[in-house]
Amino acid sequence: MNLRLTDITLTYPDGAGRLTALDRISLEVPAGTVVAAVGPSGSGKSSLLAVAATLITPDSGSVTVAGRETRGLGPGALAELRRSHVGVVFQQPNLLPSLTAAEQLQVMAHLAGRNPRRARSRALELLDSVGLARQADRRPHQLSGGQRQRVNIARALMNEPSVLLVDEPTSALDRERGAAVMDLLVSLTHERSTATVVVTHDRSHLRAVDRTVEVHDGRLTEHRPEHHPEHHQKEGLQEDPVAHRSQSAT
Ligand code: ADP
Ligand code: MG
Repeated sequence: MNLRLTDITLTYPDGAGRLTALDRISLEVPAGTVVAAVGPSGSGKSSLLAVAATLITPDSGSVTVAGRETRGLGPGALAELRRSHVGVVFQQPNLLPSLTAAEQLQVMAHLAGRNPRRARSRALELLDSVGLARQADRRPHQLSGGQRQRVNIARALMNEPSVLLVDEPTSALDRERGAAVMDLLVSLTHERSTATVVVTHDRSHLRAVDRTVEVHDGRLTEHRPEHHPEHHQKEGLQEDPVAHRSQSAT
């Protein structure tokens, strides 16, 4: 199990009181699995990712990343855990305007203290895997929105994270480019065995993911699409073999 959230509650200060953003949420994401999180604006999706990324410490509950319980770790240890195990893709690409696509990725290796020569070849290999082999030396203003988002994703994978957290990667893209980015995330997850959580509010993008959860008012529920054949079970069948396998994977 690469990512495990157990009984997470998160509140924010709200006037004189507290606003409950996450209400006793539990979620397990095995390696090589994409979980999509859908839900209305303000329901807690970004908060969920921030807790999973160890960027926010919840009021209660436990976050385990790549087998490490994070409760009790100090800021330095958490930063190190994030650098080596967590890739985060925010909604806006936040690329550095003066760097080429390859250099955006190489910076990540540099920050993690990795070999710079190896970093160049790894950056080129990753850009190739997101379909940008020929754009490696372009700067952000020379790339389309979809291409910038793919650089953003490749950058998050630079240090071989075991957990990949992606916040609404398709919101700035048209439907077709959005679907292509989702398909890319799914294939990268399966190839690289990351535990991936993707927040999206475009339900047309859920087809390719392994599992979907819904977030409403800080609570998480399993999503059961009506038209998905795998979810139609014969009456009286007690056990869903697919669900059983993912529950028992460690
Ligand atoms: P979503 O990503 O689903 O839109 P968020 O996780 O951003 O939801 O927000 C969940 C709730 O928490 C919202 O009511 C939002 O206003 C509130 N919230 C988010 N971040 C903060 C913050 N830093 N301080 C106070 N309230 C926040
Ligand atoms: Mg959000």
